[in-house]
Amino acid sequence: MDKRLLPNSLWAATAVPPAETPPLTGERRADAVVVGAGFTGLSAALHLAEAGTDIVLLEAGEPGWGASGRTGGQVIPGLKLDPDELVAKYGVEKGERLAMFAGGVADLVFDLVDRHGIDCHATRSGWIQGVHASRRMDVVERRVEQWTRRGAAAELIDARQIAELTGTARYAGGWIDRRGGMLQPLSFSRGLAHAAVRAGAAIHGRSPVTGLIPKGKGWRVETPSGAVVADQVLLATNAYTDALWPGLRQSIIPVFSYQVATKPLGDNLRRTVLAGGMPVADIRRVLLYFRLDHTGRLVVGGRGRARETEESEFYRNVVEGLNWLYPQLGPVELDHYWGGQVALTLDHLPHLNELAPGLHAMIGYNGRGVAMATACGKMMAERMQGAPLEDLPLPATPMKPIPFHGFRQPALAVAIAWKRLLDRWEARGG
Ligand SMILES: Cc1cc2nc3c(=O)[nH]c(=O)nc-3n(C[C@H](O)[C@H](O)[C@H](O)COP(=O)(O)OP(=O)(O)OC[C@H]3O[C@@H](n4cnc5c(N)ncnc54)[C@H](O)[C@@H]3O)c2cc1C
Repeated sequence: MDKRLLPNSLWAATAVPPAETPPLTGERRADAVVVGAGFTGLSAALHLAEAGTDIVLLEAGEPGWGASGRTGGQVIPGLKLDPDELVAKYGVEKGERLAMFAGGVADLVFDLVDRHGIDCHATRSGWIQGVHASRRMDVVERRVEQWTRRGAAAELIDARQIAELTGTARYAGGWIDRRGGMLQPLSFSRGLAHAAVRAGAAIHGRSPVTGLIPKGKGWRVETPSGAVVADQVLLATNAYTDALWPGLRQSIIPVFSYQVATKPLGDNLRRTVLAGGMPVADIRRVLLYFRLDHTGRLVVGGRGRARETEESEFYRNVVEGLNWLYPQLGPVELDHYWGGQVALTLDHLPHLNELAPGLHAMIGYNGRGVAMATACGKMMAERMQGAPLEDLPLPATPMKPIPFHGFRQPALAVAIAWKRLLDRWEARGG
């Protein structure tokens, strides 16, 4: 994994130019340091800089190098847990507050795009979640009921409607979340970086943080060619978390997600394939997600093997998924194959950990971070300016390394194979 290079993704081939982010050199002081320039770190840096904080953002690669510049770009409100599950877990007051926060995360993304004029082909088209088997429609019926009760624009759709909107006959129905949409994720990352620099943030690429040492009432944050001393530090490294802080990497399970992109579809296919203009994900245990880009390329993603590779033979499952969804496309020529890592947590929630005084971590988006990570970055900017923990919408949790972490990857591979079988059995009416 060469952090100097971006993967050969559709997004890297079509993104707007990056901001200047030279490596950190020499020693300096700042009010705050953020480690990791994905949506979490970029949003935190932008909001801190806008509030007048002297902020330095350090990134091992370049802004958007991690998951943020590789995602499907689907802007999805909500968490993996439904609003009523949040209320059952945290009680009415905190649970409702978290549900409202989660329901509003897409608003923040589209507001930032507008406010900073970010050129990233953002469209607030709505987002579809498909259901592969009629016996599982109850999942989305509950979801729609819970969001509707809270005032969100959510609609159930039947098999005919979803087929019209998507051009695939594979779904028994689903729902539309009108709050969602899509964007070009590397352009959004770069747009956030430009906005943060304009607001006064110092962003340094190719500056891997290699040391984090207590100093006075703050921290000395070291890279190979420099150091920053600051009172507040945020680790925003998600699935790419390394050994910088003991146990943090073991508190999440990194898994791989792969995507492929076709050539732009011809006009005939464009009339049916995703004619509704919305991105789609499904509720299968090993899910597929897909969308068109602004030139009409079909981009399909799903679970990948346990490594980062662009060798096409490792993308068999995703290509099979594409053929399963759209047999009418016949054998398709693919232009781009790329993957990245998402961070799973055992409770399926993002984790805000207070690791030590002045040292915070915000990781674990469970594959749903375009909007959530952007919003959590803003929330962490508030925390780093002194907002009390109890005022934040996401409750902080103690950082807990997962027991037998080293065995989770092989166990996960077996679990995924089993889940795939269950999905197929259900899709066949089992
Ligand atoms: C293939 C794929 C498809 C996805 N599709 C979607 C989608 O359609 N919709 C959605 O909502 N979510 C999606 N996700 C999830 C989403 O992309 C992530 O949740 C989100 O981007 C996480 O952002 P982040 O800023 O927390 O982390 P990242 O973007 O991963 O950024 C972390 C950064 O930290 C840096 N870093 C790590 N260690 C150090 C260090 N020691 N020093 C300096 N820098 C360091 C890394 O280089 C990296 O750039 C997808 C993820 C993948 C991989």
